[in-house]
Amino acid sequence: HAKKNRLDQQIYTQQIDGNTLERLQLINELKSAIDNGELVLFYQPKLDLKLKKVTHVEALVRWQHPDRGMIPPDLFIPIAEQMGQMNALTHWVINESLEQYLKWKPQGIELCIAINISAENLKDEGFCQYVLDLVNHKGVPIDVLTLEITEDAVVSDPENAIKQLTVLKKSGLKLSIDDYGTGYSSLAQLKQLPVDELKIDKSFVQNLMVNQDDRIIVNSTLQLAHNLGLSVVAEGIEDEGALNWLAERGCELGQGFYLSRPLDADKITDWLARSPY
Ligand code: C2E
Ligand code: CA
Ligand code: CA
Ligand code: CA
Repeated sequence: HAKKNRLDQQIYTQQIDGNTLERLQLINELKSAIDNGELVLFYQPKLDLKLKKVTHVEALVRWQHPDRGMIPPDLFIPIAEQMGQMNALTHWVINESLEQYLKWKPQGIELCIAINISAENLKDEGFCQYVLDLVNHKGVPIDVLTLEITEDAVVSDPENAIKQLTVLKKSGLKLSIDDYGTGYSSLAQLKQLPVDELKIDKSFVQNLMVNQDDRIIVNSTLQLAHNLGLSVVAEGIEDEGALNWLAERGCELGQGFYLSRPLDADKITDWLARSPY
């Protein structure tokens, strides 16, 4: 089944790339996808590398299209951004994540949930307030949520981003810089951001055990982050070697296919019950 999905995805990627008509159709359909309940959240565990315990998950959206099958986020998030749909999408993601937190809690599963925020969200003046009101309304502790923001989202309008992020941070939300190392932010800008965490991009982590340059980059990032008082998440851990190497160097959290791929709520709940962590 998974194999078929991958195949569908490949075919579909080619169609979108090569066919403007398809793209236009998708743009139209995306508008109603949220209302029609076609979006689904998958969750990928993050392991506390010291406690060897899963303490967090990252929520990753997919579009379960009625005819076209599962569409990965890289194919529709950019469209949502261009079409002014990002606020609606992120509101849905946050709402759904908080609902999942509330479903897990009575089962004895208490996990922090990380959500991806786009530049469009930070441009919306009401974004912070929306998030804070929603969390408050649902009665979920505010520090359950981590917002993952890419460097690029901050670079486009640093002043406004810093303003919004400061409000969120003061309220107790955790903030993380996603894909760290791939953007163009300067250290000076980074220093001004009220973040708690750096998330090292998977491109530096995937080949850690075979690429000495990557080990040098990750090692100095760990030191830099720790000296600035930030914790570090490594994403893209694909083997046990990388997991142990990162744990030995004090990296706080690890995420990657070696532990688990992103899974839907039912499957991740099963995984959590069966995993040694
Ligand atoms: P991201 O935030 O950097 O998320 C991590 C991506 O890396 C996910 O892809 C995940 O499946 C993949 N990944 C995790 N571990 C490994 C690994 O060990 N090896 C490899 N090769 N890949 C790994 P996914 O789910 O396809 O998401 C792609 C991107 O789409 C995300 O990158 C994020 O930028 C965006 N995205 C996903 N969900 C949302 C959302 O709700 N809101 C926004 N704004 N963006 C989202
Ligand atoms: Ca992310
Ligand atoms: Ca990332
Ligand atoms: Ca990424």
